[in-house]
This record gives sequence, structure tokens and C-alpha cells, in this order.
Amino acid sequence: MVEYIAHEVAVMYLGRIVEYGPVEAVLNNPPHPYTRALLSAVPQVDADQKRAILRLEGEIPSPVHPPKGCHFHPRCPEVMAVCRETYPGEIERSTRHTVRCHLYLK
Ligand code: SF4
Repeated sequence: MVEYIAHEVAVMYLGRIVEYGPVEAVLNNPPHPYTRALLSAVPQVDADQKRAILRLEGEIPSPVHPPKGCHFHPRCPEVMAVCRETYPGEIERSTRHTVRCHLYLK
């Protein structure tokens, strides 16, 4: 649906943008683990395009008292030590496509 009504999309977790960019880039090649989990839950009409659903473990933290570091770290399947301590800065993946995730630090 998003691809029919927008040119760009922002993905938010606990009230903060974690990925932003052109709809095509975000939907077809999402670098952020939360975006990938969200998209895996979208029902597919075409059986050939079915994706495995990425189930997130744990509870959704309180946005009033978010966890230290990356707010997604308690549920992230790719969490690293740095994620528990430091909130990730914005990283440009391509023109106008940004992500906040330590996986993409250079
Ligand atoms: S910064 Fe770490 S915890 Fe946050 S989404 Fe990236 S890998 Fe997962």
C-alpha cells in the first residue's frame, strides 16, 4: 500500500525514525532489522513471493523509559555489545536512504 501513496517512507520505533528513504529502497532492501521484521509480517498474495516471518522476542519497551543504547536492542536478533550502550547515529546507505543501526558503521 505504501508504495502506491508515497515516494519516501520513514520507519519508526518507539517514536524515533530508524530508517528513512525512497519507498523502493526501503521496501526492497531494508537494512534495519526492525524494518525487515515489519516487512516479513506483511501478507503476500503471490505464494512465490512469500517470506519467512521474523518473529521478534521480548516485550515492547516503554517509550517513556526507553532502554539505554539502541532502543530496539532488547528485541533485535542481531544485537551486539555496542547496541546496549550507544544510540546509533544516522548512516547514509545511499542517496536519501538513511538508517540508524550499528551494523552499518564503517
Ligand atoms: S543498532 Fe544493534 S540493536 Fe539496534 S537495530 Fe542495529 S543491530 Fe539491532
